[in-house]
Amino acid sequence: MARTREELVAAYEPLCKQFHLLPVAVTPFYKKKVDEEIAAIGPGGPLYKCVYPTEAKVGDASKGIEPLHGPGEVEDFVQEYNHYPVAGNTDIVRQYSNRLLFMTTEHCCSNCAYCFRTIKLAESDGITIENSLDQLIEYVDAHKELEEVILSGGDPVLVPLDKLRLIFEKIKSINIPHIRLHTRSIVYNPYVITQEFIDLMAEFDVRVVFHIMHPYEIDDVVKAKVEQFRKANVRMYNQNPILAGINDSPFVLKKLFTMLDDMRIRQMSIFTPDIIAFSATYRIPYQKICDIFDYMNYHSSAWVNSVRLVSAIPPGKGRRENIKKWDKETGVITFEINGVEFEYVDFPEELYHEPEHLLWKEELGLEKANPRL
Ligand code: SF4
Repeated sequence: MARTREELVAAYEPLCKQFHLLPVAVTPFYKKKVDEEIAAIGPGGPLYKCVYPTEAKVGDASKGIEPLHGPGEVEDFVQEYNHYPVAGNTDIVRQYSNRLLFMTTEHCCSNCAYCFRTIKLAESDGITIENSLDQLIEYVDAHKELEEVILSGGDPVLVPLDKLRLIFEKIKSINIPHIRLHTRSIVYNPYVITQEFIDLMAEFDVRVVFHIMHPYEIDDVVKAKVEQFRKANVRMYNQNPILAGINDSPFVLKKLFTMLDDMRIRQMSIFTPDIIAFSATYRIPYQKICDIFDYMNYHSSAWVNSVRLVSAIPPGKGRRENIKKWDKETGVITFEINGVEFEYVDFPEELYHEPEHLLWKEELGLEKANPRL
């Protein structure tokens, strides 16, 4: 008999401690949606998988089944650890010539089960914005080629407003034209996003990038909050990974992008899963991802199919046109970006399972399916 959510969470706890992963943490707002999903299709559905461990992820020690691992797993797949430009400061990450990341907090409303910074966030000994901010401003001011600062984390929505204002004022004081802020609070707890926060984004013309994964994360509360952003004339975007059992279907993605477009949110990129520890249950063979994108390409309009498929790999954002060699025998895909090669270890077909019940509300007649999607 399949284990319950509570049993799977209990099985995850020792792994979490042993491998320094983020613990399970879910807001009541999001848990309610997962509860509804579990009642309909059991544990393991798309929203469940965003925040809770699955059977395959934890294995089953009582039956001698190990947690599922895939080839090529590392702790820091995008190699952020090698890109701290200010010695001794792990809150500032620079991987590109024109922009850098500023980690403002290690906290999030809920912990994503697929978080690619799971070990970094779990091991963080506390981000002190004041110290890092002075170092950030000094560094950015000395590097005139930089034109954008991206606030990440953790979730910057959880940073107190007076601190956020200080960050924006200082960044603007050195004439950096673009500020971006990434958040997933919009689906985990929209109530944490206040009108004052939205007004601050508008005042400093901050680009807000949501990480909405699945259409069922968008309800009336989320829509109302997005509408507040729209009324304040804040530029809104979305980006997210494509993950097995969550959104690895052209129908799910097309539905998601359509809903986002209706809300005036522009979808930027879709990322392939990062190959980090315990990522196997989220990974998808690259050919399968290409098939999903090709299907969308032929069955959707440009405002859907113009979304970029990218792999965040150490030399940069790898696209299909950057593939130099694809060895189907070994499963190694060689990307080349600006003359730098990177060997991406593909996920084996035999470990991948076709998703089920990603749009379960439509299957059960609880939601009208759009026959044109
Ligand atoms: S919101 Fe982002 S940083 Fe926070 S747990 Fe999720 S993926 Fe990680």
